Amino acid sequence: MRGSGLTMKRIPMLINGEWIGDDSHEWMPVYNPSNGKQIAEIVKGNKSHVDKAVAAAQIAFESDEWRKVKAYERGQLLVSFASYIRDNAEQWSLWECEDVGKPISQARSDVEAAARYFEFYGGAADKVMGETIPIEEGILNATVLEPLGVTAHIIPWNYPLQIISRSVAAAIATGNAVIVKSAEDTPMTAHAIAEWFAATDLPKGIFQHVTGLGVDVGGPLSAHPDIEHVTFTGSVNTGIAVMKAAAENVVSVTLELGGKSPNIVFADADEEKALVGVVKAIIQNAGQTCSAGSRLLIEESYKEKFLSKLVKKFSELTIGPGIEDKDIGPILNKRQYDQIMKRIVEAKNLGRIITGGKSLSIEGSEGGFYIEPTVIDGISHSCSLAQEEIFGPILSVFTFKDPEEAIRLANGTDFGLVAGIWTQNIDVAHYVASKVKSGQVFINNYGAAGGIQMPFGGYKKSGIGREKGFVALRNYTQIKNIAIKFGI
Ligand code: NAD
Repeated sequence: MRGSGLTMKRIPMLINGEWIGDDSHEWMPVYNPSNGKQIAEIVKGNKSHVDKAVAAAQIAFESDEWRKVKAYERGQLLVSFASYIRDNAEQWSLWECEDVGKPISQARSDVEAAARYFEFYGGAADKVMGETIPIEEGILNATVLEPLGVTAHIIPWNYPLQIISRSVAAAIATGNAVIVKSAEDTPMTAHAIAEWFAATDLPKGIFQHVTGLGVDVGGPLSAHPDIEHVTFTGSVNTGIAVMKAAAENVVSVTLELGGKSPNIVFADADEEKALVGVVKAIIQNAGQTCSAGSRLLIEESYKEKFLSKLVKKFSELTIGPGIEDKDIGPILNKRQYDQIMKRIVEAKNLGRIITGGKSLSIEGSEGGFYIEPTVIDGISHSCSLAQEEIFGPILSVFTFKDPEEAIRLANGTDFGLVAGIWTQNIDVAHYVASKVKSGQVFINNYGAAGGIQMPFGGYKKSGIGREKGFVALRNYTQIKNIAIKFGI
């Protein structure tokens, strides 16, 4: 395969078909979160790199060479990339495991999801259609969905491959030129994608990859006047900065900014399914997941029984380096670790830790940051601990007496990304689902196996717009309405 393999050390940027990065550049280290060892380095890009990439993307987008690629051919290209990912799935999984620290089986799922995104949007490329609109005799009115132009994709570190794939595949399917800004901690799979695109005969600026700090590269990219859309996943504050920058140019954004998602468990829930669902929702990727189920809302009468079983499940979870494929991998880096440990101290002061609450040193992987899965009880729902994203394997517990109180608590944060509802009562399930202010609701499951096809995005501060599914194709198109007057 073309990929540089795990021995890859220097990751250059891909700008206008050229690999940018030599000794004249500043380089930034990239570490394996499982053991803290350096695995690569990236170019510390800056505004001038962004300017060059945007200029190249514009030229590529306007070129006849790209315009003449038929919609179905764009689709075929994306589908062939999906096959390439699948054919080399284990290598891609190792990159993601090493870069993010996630358990290898979770990395494998991410790789399969990435292939599915390219396949899904590849298949959709020639099915993005406008409509004809009745006006009057002698006028044919039609809408045409045109690509936007140059789109920016600012990527977080927690699911880099999946998150790049979902927006880049949709943007290329619809005929745009894309610039990916990978997260400074996790550039590996973005680079592998760049290597594949660099080896195609597409115009040079159709896929580009820039690296470096958010403020040096992400900022100039989101503020660039020739970017037509910014897709961003990450923190609320950075999302606001991106949106403000895009507003100066009056261009659209898709923002996915995380959550404080509730799992609402009623006393009549299928206990084992609810237990497994609640645990998985908070430990996946060590809780570093935008849609993590980080609040357990449990019916008061059921709390003691459910929690005793939940604590048992938590205590059985295994923790270790990604490659060892335990239940929980490391936290990304010291900054994230410190932030989580600070929250654990706060929890001890404001409530109590029922299980977990300690950091761990793993023999042979001492450079990694590991935290026990933790359950917090007895904190007020209004405190910042209950309100803000912690981004670690930390679950907070709250009780409700009836469905109305469950709904009030579920809706009682600034977020609204995902909600889980666990009950055998179909009336209660639908009633609560209809009242929860959340972009996605799962009843008696949490995640529906990933859901490439399911629109994903948040209410409130969880974001703006939707990714995934057919609806995301609209992020990368604009409507032109054409009226043709005819008659003899
Ligand atoms: P971040 O939002 O700062 O970074 C996300 C991406 O944005 C990275 O590629 C970064 O380089 C870039 N970026 C940073 N500053 C920018 C700017 N001014 N303009 C444009 N792009 C910029 O997130 P973080 O610092 O990596 O993590 C902090 C917290 O964010 C986490 O603890 C977590 O709560 C949250 N987070 C959420 C998600 C999610 O999936 N929604 C993902 C990662 C982090």
